[in-house]
Amino acid sequence: MEKTILYLVLPCYNEEAVLYDTAAVVEGKYRDLIQSGRISAESKILFVNDGSKDRTWEIITELFHRNPVFCGVNLSRNRGHQNAVLAGLMTAKEKADAVISIDADLQQDINAVDEMLTKFESGCDVVYGVRNARDTDGMIKKVTALGFYKLMQMMGCEVLKNHADYRLMSKRAIESLSEYNEVNLFLRGLIPTIGYKSDIVYFDVRERQAGESKYTMSKMLGFAMDGITSFSIKPIRFITAIGFLMLLVSIGIIIQTIVEHYLGMTVPGWSSLHCALWLIGSIQLMALGIVGEYIGKIYMESKHRPRYHIESVLWRDE
Ligand code: UDP
Ligand code: MG
Repeated sequence: MEKTILYLVLPCYNEEAVLYDTAAVVEGKYRDLIQSGRISAESKILFVNDGSKDRTWEIITELFHRNPVFCGVNLSRNRGHQNAVLAGLMTAKEKADAVISIDADLQQDINAVDEMLTKFESGCDVVYGVRNARDTDGMIKKVTALGFYKLMQMMGCEVLKNHADYRLMSKRAIESLSEYNEVNLFLRGLIPTIGYKSDIVYFDVRERQAGESKYTMSKMLGFAMDGITSFSIKPIRFITAIGFLMLLVSIGIIIQTIVEHYLGMTVPGWSSLHCALWLIGSIQLMALGIVGEYIGKIYMESKHRPRYHIESVLWRDE
């Protein structure tokens, strides 16, 4: 059997603090894998620079000149983690048999790659990396992440619990992914819908060695919102349900009011009216907001904008 050409895709946003260490670790891993005959010598490590403002791209360029196992893609500006991963996958699929995406801070255990390869060789097109426990995260991250998975499941989006974007995909799976044209990218929800044979590999997480998390609270909330609204229309159904319930309640209130009117019990109840006004007003506003979210999506999708542009590529053909 031909040896697998394996590409490793690492999205990098302002990662100068970890990049040398990361490069040393993955370089060592690749040396072992290639020397032991596990993967083809044409396998490469592909860094995607997601519009970093620090020395990230200079470091990638330096690594590329030092060892041909490294290559790089430089995006024209910051497009976010998901788009950076996608850019890496689409670039790598031209040459690779299989591509593994992993965070550049190597919080995820690189040694899970061996098991992913074994599963790929036994016929899996997608192998999901799933973290064992959330011990290294802070309290807030733990709670928000758990709430996120719960919410996603409630909304009917098929996400694997504790799976981030550490996964192996075959060339065929990536080609299928390339047929999805949506701009609001949520890979974790999208990839399970592709199908093909898949499996799970468990790994341990560790703390970030240097630099800080590039996922701010607002980026995380935006990501969760994207995940839900890209895959589910349940929020709209929820509004319809509330609207229906409110209608039933109002019918009751109207009947009561008419009866009280004819019985001569009409005492002007300013406070109750006032409360109802506020309540209905706020519910309407909330409903409008959620509907607006979807309209915004339709608007964005209807543009069919390209999701990234590659400024330059570091590539060497043997
Ligand atoms: N990242 C990126 N673009 C962004 C934000 C993050 O490419 O706009 C990359 C980042 O360099 C890292 C990965 O996404 O390789 C995960 O980010 P991070 O480790 O900061 O997130 P956390 O592990 O804290 O969730
Ligand atoms: Mg991280």
